[in-house]
Amino acid sequence: MTGVRGIVLDMEGVLHVDWSPIPGSAAAVAELAAEGIEVGVLTNTTGKTRAAIAERLAGIGYELPVERITTAASAAAEYLRSRQAGKRVYALVERGAVGELDGVELVDDPGSAEVVLLGGPDESWTYRRLNAVFRTLLGGVPLVAMQRNRWWPTADGPALDAGMFVVGLSYAAATEPVVVGKPSTEIYRSACRLLEVDPAEAMMVGDDPESDLAPAAGIGMRTCLVRTGKGSSFGQVDVDLDLVDLAALPAALG
Ligand SMILES: [Mg+2]
Repeated sequence: MTGVRGIVLDMEGVLHVDWSPIPGSAAAVAELAAEGIEVGVLTNTTGKTRAAIAERLAGIGYELPVERITTAASAAAEYLRSRQAGKRVYALVERGAVGELDGVELVDDPGSAEVVLLGGPDESWTYRRLNAVFRTLLGGVPLVAMQRNRWWPTADGPALDAGMFVVGLSYAAATEPVVVGKPSTEIYRSACRLLEVDPAEAMMVGDDPESDLAPAAGIGMRTCLVRTGKGSSFGQVDVDLDLVDLAALPAALG
């Protein structure tokens, strides 16, 4: 397959499963990079910094530096810097996400905010804070969300994610949120910009055709489904490449 200058990789199910590396994936990443292809990673994570992710990936054999990693938090920061430049932002986000908001003016008082930003929820999201955000939104201030996932698995069982809060606050304030993370195309554009490649010259590799690959195809990226992780649970799908694992990608690209 010709013309692919950049490759964006989903993490879970492509590089590792629960931080256990998938055999052959690290060698494939090294081989692609050695062939001069720009390789990056895209994840909907909001609570971990890109530096922490790079370190964790290095620990399981992946050489993917921090400046090649796009998270829902880093993509939201880029969205705010470019589309809401200079605006005062009230951020309801985890501590880890605050470190990704360089160049964004954060304020402590939701009443003085010009934009509200939601990340991943935790126990600090009290009724009092949510109600203050609600009042700000009622005043016409836009709502930007890093992601709107339904839930995530924890050792204790499923935990409520940001989706309920994004949907609930926008319902209550009758406003339409901007969601930056997957499945929004914003985060894919952000990942391509990081690699300095046009989406038409880039390929998205994921283990979920709907949440990883459909939005990528929507902005003109080529798509590669790997049958590791969740990938084994799907039937036949319409993608550019359908591979047993990431290790098969360098040969498939030719
Ligand atoms: Mg995945």
